[in-house]
Amino acid sequence: MLVDDIMSVTETAGHLIDGFGTRSRAYVQVQNGCDHRCTFCIIPYGRGNSRSVPAGVVVEQIRRLVDRGFNEVVLTGVDLTGWGGDLPARPRLGDLVMRILRLVPDLPRLRISSIDSIEADPRLMEAIATEPRLMPHLHLSLQHGDDLILKRMKRRHLRDDAIRFAEEARRLRPDMTFGADIIAGFPTETGAAFENSLRLVEECHLTWLHVFPFSPRPGTPAARMPQLDGRTIRKRAARLREAGAARVAMHLDAQQGRAHRVLMESARMGRTEQFAEVVFDGDREEGAIVPATITGRREQRLVAV
Ligand code: SF4
Repeated sequence: MLVDDIMSVTETAGHLIDGFGTRSRAYVQVQNGCDHRCTFCIIPYGRGNSRSVPAGVVVEQIRRLVDRGFNEVVLTGVDLTGWGGDLPARPRLGDLVMRILRLVPDLPRLRISSIDSIEADPRLMEAIATEPRLMPHLHLSLQHGDDLILKRMKRRHLRDDAIRFAEEARRLRPDMTFGADIIAGFPTETGAAFENSLRLVEECHLTWLHVFPFSPRPGTPAARMPQLDGRTIRKRAARLREAGAARVAMHLDAQQGRAHRVLMESARMGRTEQFAEVVFDGDREEGAIVPATITGRREQRLVAV
């Protein structure tokens, strides 16, 4: 997960979790801190090592949210796939997901926020394959598509690992869509290394890109590496964003004529299971899950009746 995202994660006191968000969706923080030390990231210095909220506490919280009328819960964490490593018996994120879905049968939709795909466990893959209430949208913390840069970032995966994961998730769940964090202009990034990141967008079938132009965080190892000039960084970030916009348009255009179930965030706007925004001409009940047939696209949104 990237610094800017992490800074926006609500701090929880003593592992207490809370639900917040709109009336339609609640966010539940199940993990905080991180055991990794990516060279660009300041989070572990401030947040310390990974701490997990026990599964029983998470399940109770989600039960309460469902009783209050929430139709969708999103599990969040600084290093979500690190969940469970500090708990007795060291359960994995997949165990938590399966347990929530089994013990809260009235929860219509469960999402997981950003994950480190190399840490996805077998039970999580099983949940992707067998649990329709786990939404077919994963946000992947990929950061780059070049092996040497990934090593300099001290990430734990290589580009082939990312491609393999995306293929496997799509094989298990053909309607799966991916978002991803990608850093443009990491120190020492050559033109060829950047092209590897750009090609990853296609090769991993990424749709929703969060592109971060690299900016050094004082005190991190990456801040001491040879930096690229700002213009190159901005140009590369723009090319990645263009590639992302083209992928979004492709995804949205492919929905034409399809039936979706949309969770309404306001009277006229909701989201598909794959997290695409849908606009309606007439009002729907906010917070409800409604059927919709897609009739077209308006820029980065679907239009439905
Ligand atoms: S996995 Fe890396 S980027 Fe994410 S919080 Fe941990 S150190 Fe930072």
